[in-house]
Amino acid sequence: MADVTPWRRCSACKKPIALGAVYWACNVSTCNQKRTALVFCTLSCWEVHLPGANHREAWAVERRAPTTPEPGARPGPDLRGTRRIVASAPAKKPDAMPLEVLIVASRLKDYVRARSGYNTSDRVLEPLSEIVRRAVDQAIESARREGRMTVLDRDVPET
Ligand SMILES: [Zn+2]
Ligand SMILES: [Zn+2]
Repeated sequence: MADVTPWRRCSACKKPIALGAVYWACNVSTCNQKRTALVFCTLSCWEVHLPGANHREAWAVERRAPTTPEPGARPGPDLRGTRRIVASAPAKKPDAMPLEVLIVASRLKDYVRARSGYNTSDRVLEPLSEIVRRAVDQAIESARREGRMTVLDRDVPET
């Protein structure tokens, strides 16, 4: 039964997750966006993404994969290529990626205050930066698809 069509691959170890199989997802919304949703075959694979994700509060959610392939899912040849590259190296995010705060704290606090009169914890900056990073990663991918080396406003995904 090894060549059953997998549903998706584990975001950490790249092992296939079979249709109808139990898998783990992250509770954090930035890990569950439509196009970039992370899925994990085991709890320890879920833990692998934590250091890079910088979540403030995270837990794994048990889910079950659909029993039929998703419409529009491409069994693309690029998927197979990726698997080979990953097989020779541990599936870890490179630490080279800067994980700095991308949000201007004073502007954000002004906005929250103007809108609600509330204060804003500095810890809000990290998860917000993560959202920005993910959106920008998608925008970069969009520019790359069109062969551009400039990210344009229209590349930014709508939320
Ligand atoms: Zn895994
Ligand atoms: Zn996560």
